[in-house]
Amino acid sequence: MPIHPKRIQKLNTKEIKDGPIIYWMNREMRINDNWSLLYAQQLAQEYKRPLIVIYNLVPNFLGGGKRQLAFKMKTLQEIEIALIKKNIVFQVIIDDTGKKSGTLLIDFLQTVHAGAVVTDFYPLRLPRSWNTYVRKNASCACFGVDSHNIVPVWVASDKKEYGAYTIRPKIFRLLPEFLDEFPMLQKSKYAYAGKLPVANWKKLLSEKEIQESLVSIDWAPSGVSGANKILKKFLQNGLQSYAEMRNDPNDHAQSQLSPYLHYGIISSQRIVLEVLKYIKKDIAQVLHNQKNKAKVSPHMRLTMTDHAGAFLEELIVRKELSDNFCFYEEQYDTVDGFPNWAKESFAKTNKDTREYTYIQKQFEQGKTHDDLWNAAQMQMVSIGKMHGYMRMYWAKKILEWTKTPEQAMKIAIYLNDTYSLDGRDPNGYAGIAWSIGGVHDRAWFPRPIFGLVRYMSYGGCKGKFDVEKYIQTWLYKNNL
Ligand SMILES: Cc1cc2nc3c(=O)[nH]c(=O)nc-3n(C[C@H](O)[C@H](O)[C@H](O)COP(=O)(O)OP(=O)(O)OC[C@H]3O[C@@H](n4cnc5c(N)ncnc54)[C@H](O)[C@@H]3O)c2cc1C
Repeated sequence: MPIHPKRIQKLNTKEIKDGPIIYWMNREMRINDNWSLLYAQQLAQEYKRPLIVIYNLVPNFLGGGKRQLAFKMKTLQEIEIALIKKNIVFQVIIDDTGKKSGTLLIDFLQTVHAGAVVTDFYPLRLPRSWNTYVRKNASCACFGVDSHNIVPVWVASDKKEYGAYTIRPKIFRLLPEFLDEFPMLQKSKYAYAGKLPVANWKKLLSEKEIQESLVSIDWAPSGVSGANKILKKFLQNGLQSYAEMRNDPNDHAQSQLSPYLHYGIISSQRIVLEVLKYIKKDIAQVLHNQKNKAKVSPHMRLTMTDHAGAFLEELIVRKELSDNFCFYEEQYDTVDGFPNWAKESFAKTNKDTREYTYIQKQFEQGKTHDDLWNAAQMQMVSIGKMHGYMRMYWAKKILEWTKTPEQAMKIAIYLNDTYSLDGRDPNGYAGIAWSIGGVHDRAWFPRPIFGLVRYMSYGGCKGKFDVEKYIQTWLYKNNL
């Protein structure tokens, strides 16, 4: 089955040359359900060429630490084994600084006399700069494929969207066209016979170091086997109460799939297909239901279709909206990316007195006056993930307790990217910009410090869930 042509972009004007087809794996660390790899294989078969997969490993990518690296390395080990079985060579290049990836890739393409390179769409600045370098400097054809969104970001919309309400109808209209079953990756017919330098990526961390780093994230078993296990658990235990319970930080109704989605270990399209199979409905039925029950009221009796609808709203609409934001808004991680109404209101509140102010270190150590905030911070530090509801409260309080929204953005991004297993992701930048700067939200009533940006309070949390239980779990017992 050919790949939908609208998923693919030709990134330069060069021709496909003699030589192997290269899949430069970047955002999508998986071999199944991966449109980029499937497209590379399609080219390899059509032109009768070997296929090589290359991954550029940046150990501290955008501030990630050992825990993230260990998680990634386990996944790479799995990928290598699976590719060997498919007669496909796998190569890793290491870029210690994150600045050399472009040149290292060009060196590699020259070494193997590449015929064409296919890579993943990635909206963040740093990987986009690698991409730009490669497409400009490669002497062969370069293609970009969006394998992260069900509806390719450039097809869903040609501009920065205002919010979920503007992108939702566009995505829903296009879903039937793009939500197709994936073909299987075939065993490669043409083996690469040339010699390649042996990369020492397996030595970046010893097996012992990997195991030690993974202890704190044992809720997220690594690799595709881990992703499948978590998905199965969610379908059996979380989905049936998702719409009601996902906002309770003491409950486990959320899927915990974000790290796998972030690293591209599982595709959101696969998750949607599995959810539909599980509830025995097609996408049109779920969307129809969702349209009629946009909001879940406490008195509603919810069906599995409602729960699935609420989940797919997050997994499809919110997630793809985040990619839209980072793709079309260059300043996705600064106050310049905020809507004008928020910026104008901050101009009026910037000098407002802050009852409490903290510096980054105090936030990092969870040493504020607010036990609930400290508990959320400790949840993120200790297990690499903060509950989704707490993330909003957490970021909004950073705005309240810092001198400027600029400072709040920097601190929130630093903490989220350093400690969250799913950090360094468009969802993170959009989520932080939503909380601090009103991105994708509407203007609320004016308040000190927040201006027109939506406020959240400790009292509000108390009315929604058992705050004491959450504090006890994360601040004092520090475990699930
Ligand atoms: C301040 C702040 C920071 C955030 N940082 C990140 C981050 O670094 N990485 C990240 O993946 N998400 C982030 N989010 C979005 C959201 O909180 C997480 O995606 C979610 O909590 C992940 O847990 P889950 O996979 O169990 O979610 P589920 O509730 O099971 O949702 C399934 C999937 O849907 C998507 N999704 C859910 N909620 C959102 C949302 N609000 N926006 C966009 N996509 C969503 C995610 O891909 C998620 O994995 C952030 C939100 C806020 C407010």
